[in-house]
Parts: sequence; structure tokens; C-alpha cells
Amino acid sequence: MKTIFHNLLDFLFPTLCPGCKKRLTESEKHICLNCINKIPKTNFHLQKDNKLESFFAGRIPFERITAFAHFVKGGVMQPIIHELKYKNNPQLGVFLGELCGADLKGSEFIKGITYIVPIPLHAKRIDERGYNQSLEIAKGISSKTKIPIDDQTVVRTKNNPSQAKSGSRFERWSNVENIFSLTDEENFKDKHILLIDDVLTTGSTIEACAKKILNITDCKISILTIATAH
Ligand SMILES: [Zn+2]
Repeated sequence: MKTIFHNLLDFLFPTLCPGCKKRLTESEKHICLNCINKIPKTNFHLQKDNKLESFFAGRIPFERITAFAHFVKGGVMQPIIHELKYKNNPQLGVFLGELCGADLKGSEFIKGITYIVPIPLHAKRIDERGYNQSLEIAKGISSKTKIPIDDQTVVRTKNNPSQAKSGSRFERWSNVENIFSLTDEENFKDKHILLIDDVLTTGSTIEACAKKILNITDCKISILTIATAH
């Protein structure tokens, strides 16, 4: 009965691939196989001193930085990220995290990482969207790598809606300075934190969050985003 009902639902409301808008087959989940194969992976986790590590060099001290895929205009990641952020599809975030986590599993990149920490959203933004997409991504990565998530220690005290639009690096920075605070610094003392975000553009939000955490004694930071515009 359940299968018939499910089939009927699927017939009436087919699940479409966010990448190509084609109907997913029975064995496909969240993204079709064709689009998965088209994801332009960076494999930066295998490459020390990669492009993103050069991008953040001198801004913050870090251990390693990677992104799962390149974000190219007109490419497959653009509609996928759009769906994740604006179409009430938290499961897509978990799925992307699982794809990413499967690549990271057993790699040098995640060696020694204590907690996976999603960049927090402001409560107001969570209300609008229904979820924090970075937390959903973190869940997928955690399920593959078995590294626990901490989404309680860093909180966002301010929203920054115009952050990504324009302005000099200084203007962008003054927008995001002091938007994060810590509930209990002891949690991250002597720990290695992997910060998670969805897309890397200017990097100023991640930088602000990392700086806040790095005030803690002997805390180390690595960074991972699902997509990078660089
Ligand atoms: Zn597709």
C-alpha cells in the first residue's frame, strides 16, 4: 500500500533534480546521477597551499581550507545552491554534505579535527528560511566522517544582509565585525574546529567567525565550503 501511495504521490508531484529540472528516477535521491557527475570538484583537500589557502593567507591563521566544488555561473552548482538556500530543501544540504564527507573520509585534511561547526545564521534568517543550510551540510559531513557537530558554542548576534553585495574589503569587514559571539569559550580550548559554510564569495563572514573563535587559547581552525566562487 505504502509503495502504491508513494508512487501516486510521485506521479502527481514528481521530485525534480535541482540541477537540470528533470524527474529523478526511483534510485536517485536529491540530485540526478548526470548532474552529480557534472559537479566540478575542486579536490583542494588533497592539495596543500591551494587557491583558497592563498586567498585567506595573511587574513587569519588556519590549518587547511577547501571547497567541495567550483561555483561557476551557468554551471550545475548554481541552481543547486539556489535550491538549498531559497527552496526549503534542507535534505539537499545533508546530501551535499554526504557527497563532500565521502571524499574527505580518511584524508589528511580531516585528521585531528575535533568538531564540525556550521557558521550560524541569525535567528531571524532561520525563521524566514526554516533552517540553517550550513548546519544541514554539517550533518551530512558528520555522518560520513563521524566527527561530531557543535552548533551551540558560536552564536550570531547580528544579521548582515548587505554583506556580499559590494564595497571595499574594509567596508565589508566593518559590516561583519562583531556579528558572532561565543557562549562558552572552554568548549573550543585546545580544539581543532572545522568551520562550514555554503558558498565562499568575499570570505568576510567566515573570516569574522574564525577570528572570534581564534581568540580562544590554542584553538585551531580549518574551513570548508560546499562551493567556491574563486
Ligand atoms: Zn540533474
